[in-house]
Amino acid sequence: MNNFTDILRAHHLKATPQRLAIAATLYNRGHVNIEELYEVMLKKFNSISLATIYKNINLMIENAFIQEVKIPNAKSVYELSKEAHSHMVCDNCGAVEDFTVDLSAVTSLAAHETNFKINKADLVFSGLCQNCQ
Ligand SMILES: [Zn+2]
Ligand SMILES: [Zn+2]
Repeated sequence: MNNFTDILRAHHLKATPQRLAIAATLYNRGHVNIEELYEVMLKKFNSISLATIYKNINLMIENAFIQEVKIPNAKSVYELSKEAHSHMVCDNCGAVEDFTVDLSAVTSLAAHETNFKINKADLVFSGLCQNCQ
């Protein structure tokens, strides 16, 4: 089990009970959207507001403790920060899975074609997960 108190502090974040609960939820579930997170948090902190959760989430993103994964046509999910990776998203059940693929060839081709200076490349593939096929 990770020591999230230390990890939060390493990201210059105070380890409040709410932030520790968010960290544990992302650790246990991998990828969580705001509604799922709200549901979990309500069970632990019965008067917590969605605004408070967003405030914590945004601060945790700013300090690179967690990251947002933007999914086309669906709510963003949040995950603990880790090495760059891409995502598979199930169109049926919404399951999100990580996978790692070397995008350097695609990235340099894209940069060459568009003259963009690319900061980040992460792909989101959609389809049907094993359970939904
Ligand atoms: Zn599925
Ligand atoms: Zn991920």
